[in-house]
Amino acid sequence: MAKKIFLIKTKWWFGIIPILFSILLGYYLINSFNQKIEKTYPESKISYQSSHAEASSSAKPTATPAASIKPVVNLPPKISGSFGVPILTYHFVANNPNPQDIARDSLEVTPDKFEAQMDYLSSHGYTPISLDTLFAIFSKQTSAPAKPIVLTFDDGYIDFYTTVYPILTRFNFHAVSFIPTGLIGTSYYMNWGQIREIAQSGLVTFEDHTVSHANLAGLSYDQALKQMTDSKNELQSQTGYPVNFIAYPYGISNSLVQQAATVAGFVGGVGTWYGKADGIYMNMPRIKVSGYWAIEEFASRI
Ligand SMILES: [Zn+2]
Repeated sequence: MAKKIFLIKTKWWFGIIPILFSILLGYYLINSFNQKIEKTYPESKISYQSSHAEASSSAKPTATPAASIKPVVNLPPKISGSFGVPILTYHFVANNPNPQDIARDSLEVTPDKFEAQMDYLSSHGYTPISLDTLFAIFSKQTSAPAKPIVLTFDDGYIDFYTTVYPILTRFNFHAVSFIPTGLIGTSYYMNWGQIREIAQSGLVTFEDHTVSHANLAGLSYDQALKQMTDSKNELQSQTGYPVNFIAYPYGISNSLVQQAATVAGFVGGVGTWYGKADGIYMNMPRIKVSGYWAIEEFASRI
């Protein structure tokens, strides 16, 4: 009997060693990969934060210490919905110009995969809507369409005009594009003529992404407010409609940034922490679409 117990214990210990080894190896590989990505693309901090939030049970971020002191502005109360709406985040929709650059893959969905995803939404009865419509649904000004979903594209890259917009047009899908106004017209970005052309179609609403893609939490209150008001004013004058939402660059905000966003006139803000939107408020979650996802993975996330 004693021998049998010893044997069982021996087997148990032998079984745990490869499991522990696999966990440690996996942790090391993921960690070193994330570090490589963050060095290459500042924006990909998003992917790190998203996956971190995803793995954590307390995914919803809490306010971080304010960068400077200003009179407290009450944040608008959350407008709650009774169900969750996926807000998808895309950056590049393009083929990787440098296949050696594997870090870019985490920020990029190929045109083929993107088209397959839109095809999936279409054949499964999803309705892509604007953030303004999402606001109207949650504030009960309108009823929700079948399977509402919000497609968002960060940074205003040129491939939004050349690749995404024609596909959206084919599916007659609405989308939201977050624009850093100071980068428009420079290399890799759309120009104002292209943005106005898309805006006039009514298929895409352009929303705020600051002037210089600044980390707002690293600025003073006045600097953060200026980044948001200047970009909001520029976008409104270019598109001719009110700009009501902001995506915080890198997904980073704190209570002071959110107060400044409220003062700037935004009714909602989106971060990059993982989850479905269950209301309108100043740091709503999104679901970042990974270039690594097969269509089954895409379907399971929305
Ligand atoms: Zn961005």
